[in-house]
Amino acid sequence: MRGDQFIESLYDGRSVWLEGKQIAHVPEHSAFKGTLSTIKTLFNMLDDPSQRDKVGYWVPEKERYAHSAFLVPYTQQELQQRSRSFSCWSAETNGMMSRLSDYARSLVTGWYAAREQLSALDPAFAVKISAYYEGARDRDLFLTTAIIDPQIDRSSGLDDHRIAERFLHVVRETSEGIVVRGAKMIATGAPYTHDFVIFSFLQFQAEHQQHAHVLIVPANSPGLHIVCRESFADEREQNHPLSYRYDEMDAVLFFDDVLIPWERVLLYGDPEKVLALRANRTANGLAFHQNVVRFVAKLEFVTGITFAIAEAIGVTGFLHIQEKLGELLTQIDAIKALTIASEAKAVPDESGVLVPDLSYIETARSLGTKYYPRAIEILQQVGGGGFVQTPSGIEDFYGPISELMHLYFEGASVSAEKKVELFKLAWDLIGSPLGTRHLLYEKFYAGDPVRGLANHYNRFDKEALTDPIWKLLKANSKGSLMI
Ligand SMILES: Cc1cc2nc3c(=O)[nH]c(=O)nc-3n(C[C@H](O)[C@H](O)[C@H](O)COP(=O)(O)OP(=O)(O)OC[C@H]3O[C@@H](n4cnc5c(N)ncnc54)[C@H](O)[C@@H]3O)c2cc1C
Repeated sequence: MRGDQFIESLYDGRSVWLEGKQIAHVPEHSAFKGTLSTIKTLFNMLDDPSQRDKVGYWVPEKERYAHSAFLVPYTQQELQQRSRSFSCWSAETNGMMSRLSDYARSLVTGWYAAREQLSALDPAFAVKISAYYEGARDRDLFLTTAIIDPQIDRSSGLDDHRIAERFLHVVRETSEGIVVRGAKMIATGAPYTHDFVIFSFLQFQAEHQQHAHVLIVPANSPGLHIVCRESFADEREQNHPLSYRYDEMDAVLFFDDVLIPWERVLLYGDPEKVLALRANRTANGLAFHQNVVRFVAKLEFVTGITFAIAEAIGVTGFLHIQEKLGELLTQIDAIKALTIASEAKAVPDESGVLVPDLSYIETARSLGTKYYPRAIEILQQVGGGGFVQTPSGIEDFYGPISELMHLYFEGASVSAEKKVELFKLAWDLIGSPLGTRHLLYEKFYAGDPVRGLANHYNRFDKEALTDPIWKLLKANSKGSLMI
């Protein structure tokens, strides 16, 4: 089964650091066990005849199924197939796991799909991306991205040597490849990814060639250290059902003179070209599409929990509660509608690849940064103090005070035990370290939300909206002259 192969493949000598220790066997560590078990189940779906068509597609030349994130869509049907696969894995994980590799796989698929146009950036690009894409697809590689440069002093740029030496840069070239040094911050899923897709989010000046690159780096590269944040995984499933199975670890990457073979150096040395690749519509359209499909599942999950809590404590009849529950439904509909619009308005690129409309997707991603904190606020408002009225564990239901537990924890429409389980689930979403991390994630995963919205304005064809205003005012002033 592919899930077992995935777990087995992680015994590859990678250097993962957690709490001051180098983790020798990632799959056996309690910080990763629950999450890897979830991923294993997802990977196994491709080997299950009753499920594989939901998440995968048949690759005739290989005579096997591959995940649909690798499918290049030329028709609406193929675009829907991609959407279905994102939706399926998201539903399986309640939208709580955002970097299951389908995002980064889509980015690679987009570059592969647009390889003819992108060859203008580098004649070797098409050959390199084709070889990588096919290998990743056929070996079910787990991929993630690391794009952001370390947060040292955001008021300084590469002209400051403190910044230049810490941002990822090339220190020398060899016949085998380039040797890079520096760091990248936040790669979700880093300890259990196979490869990192690496480039910079920043726009570098022409003279900063050493910092301009697009790389695909194996996680077990000698000299690469994966430095994890504190683990939020919790082995007490009943107390923390989400932290038990969904802690996607985030990590910082240290590159201590890491050799990147030439075939994995997709671009190097020209900031303009790196920027052009980063802005490629095909790749971004296919990858960002996954983000919004996943987000629908997350909103549905939060809404489901909020509805259940409202019912469990008998507050659904209050007008202001109904208003807030209605607001959650509008959030789901708005993101769903934007997703459907992005698919319906998909336009073929120069190679005929059907690319979801990026404008709708960007709007959904921006709305998400505000919707998610609001959804959590509504959940808090609906549940009130109930979140901290839960007992420390469910053991008391079976001990000497069992009768009293059943009496005092009972809900309006559910048993005491179910109500406690429900509130513990909700607390894991709003009050645990994992829950807080999710709040931060939804605000920042798509980049800085402030600059995201500002860019939307800056890129927009403003005259389409301002011309009618000036026309109207011109007509009025003519009218007043005539009078
Ligand atoms: C949980 C989590 C998971 C993540 N996973 C990934 C991942 O897997 N891969 C990946 O590549 N990235 C990931 N990210 C990183 C994410 O893309 C960045 O956090 C995001 O782009 C914001 O950048 P930053 O954190 O460096 O914030 P900064 O850019 O340092 O911003 C900090 C504050 O300063 C302001 N600011 C900074 N510079 C400017 C400026 N020039 N102009 C105006 N305001 C400015 C910002 O508005 C913000 O308020 C993740 C982030 C989080 C929180």
